[in-house]
Amino acid sequence: MISDPQLFLCLSDISGTMRGKAMPVREIDNGAEARVGWTPTNVQIGCFDTIAESPWGALGDLVLMGDLNSRARVDFADGGPIEDFALGDILHLDGRPWACCTRSILKAALTRLQHAADITLFGAFEHEFHLPDRTASKAESYGLGAFRTERVLCETMMAALAGAGLVPDTILKEYGPNQFEVTVKPTLGHVIADQAAQLREIARATGERVGQRVSFAPLIEAGGMGNGAHVHLSFRDGAGRPVTYDAAGLHGMSAPTGSFIAGVLYNLPAIVAFLAPSVVSYSRLVPHRWSAAFNNLGVQDREAAVRLCPISELGGEDPAPLFNFEVRACDATASPHLALAAIVHAGAWGIEEKLAPPMVTNEDLSQRSAADLAAQGLRRLPTSLGAALDELAAAEMVKAWFPGGFAEIYLAHKRHEISVLEGQDEAAICAAYQSAY
Ligand code: GLU
Ligand code: MG
Repeated sequence: MISDPQLFLCLSDISGTMRGKAMPVREIDNGAEARVGWTPTNVQIGCFDTIAESPWGALGDLVLMGDLNSRARVDFADGGPIEDFALGDILHLDGRPWACCTRSILKAALTRLQHAADITLFGAFEHEFHLPDRTASKAESYGLGAFRTERVLCETMMAALAGAGLVPDTILKEYGPNQFEVTVKPTLGHVIADQAAQLREIARATGERVGQRVSFAPLIEAGGMGNGAHVHLSFRDGAGRPVTYDAAGLHGMSAPTGSFIAGVLYNLPAIVAFLAPSVVSYSRLVPHRWSAAFNNLGVQDREAAVRLCPISELGGEDPAPLFNFEVRACDATASPHLALAAIVHAGAWGIEEKLAPPMVTNEDLSQRSAADLAAQGLRRLPTSLGAALDELAAAEMVKAWFPGGFAEIYLAHKRHEISVLEGQDEAAICAAYQSAY
C-alpha cells in the first residue's frame, strides 16, 4: 500500500468543530514549520456546514500555526492509518493572534487570571456521550453487564487517549440508555481545553475503528438523558501549590475560589451562550435533569450550575490538592476553548472585583418564585439559545472581554444556526445535532 502519512492541523472553532488542513508528516520531520493557510470566512461555517453572514466575504488570508506540543498521534494497531492531528492558533500573516481564534482567546483569558491573582488553572472536562446505534437492554445503568458489551470500545478508547498523551481516569456506563462517560486527569492552562478537543476526536475515531458511532450531542432524542461536559477546575500558585482550598473559608473555598465562582455565577446568564451553544442545549438545562437550570452554587448538588466536589476523607489525605469545583452548565457543542475562556474571564472579573463567595443553595429552586430567587441574586438561566444570545448581546461588559468584533461574529454565527433549524420538529433537530456532534 502506498501511503504518505499526514498531520492534520486544526482547532476547535466557534461551532466546536475541529477544522483545518493536513500536511505531510515527512515535511515536519524534515524541519518544516507546521502551518497552513486559512480563510477568515471559514469561521462562519456552522455545525451543519451552512455558512453565516461574514464581513470578509472572499477576502483575507490568515495562518493556522500548528502547536506540536498538542499533537495527538494514535496508532490503533488495527491495520488502519495512524490518527494524527495537532491543534494550533489562527494568526494574522504578521503573527498577531486573529480576533476569532478560539485558542488565542483562551490564552488571553488565562493571562488575565494570572494577573488578577497570580494563579494558573488546573482542571479537566468530564464528558458524557451516547452510542446512538447501540441497542439498550434493561438494568444497564452503571452496570458491569452493559460495560462488558462495550468493553472493546471502552478499552480501545482509554488506550487511544493514553497514546495521545492524556491521562485516562475513569470510563463507565452512565445512567441513560446507551449513555457512557469518560474522564481524564486534570492538567494546566490552555491544555485543559486542548485535551477536551482531543478527547472528543479520539472518542469518535475509536468509535469508527470498532464500528460504533459516538455522539456528544447534548440531547440525543427528545425527552432523553442529556450529555454534559462538566468543567472541573482548581487553582495552582506560581510554585505549583494548590490554592483552591482554605479550611477556614466558606465550605472550604479560598478567597480567590469564592470570588471566581461568584464572578462565574453572576455572568452565567450571558456566558451560557458560549457554554451551551446549541438549540438542544436548552432542553438539557432544565430542572430535575441533573444538569443546571439556575445560576447557583451547590455543595455536592448535581442540579447546581457550579458544584463544590466532594473530597474523600477515607485516606486521611490533605484535601487541598483534591478540592475542586465543576461548572455543569456546559456541553460538548461548545468549543472547549471558548467555553473555558468565558468561564475564566467571568471568574477573573469576580476576583478583580473582590466579590464575596456565593451562598450555597440546598433545595429545589424550581419551587421558588422568580422574585424570591432574585432577592438572593439567583435566577433561571435562559431557556433557549435565542434567549441566551440576546443576554450575551445585551452584556456589554462580557462582550468587551473578547477581541474587538468577535462577539458580533459569534452572535451572527449562532443566530444563523437557529435559522437553519427553523420549522423542524424536536426529533429532527435532535437527529441533526446527533450526527453533527
Ligand atoms: N447527564 C447529566 C448532565 O446532563 C449529568 C449527570 C451526572 O451528574 O453525571 O449534565
Ligand atoms: Mg455523569
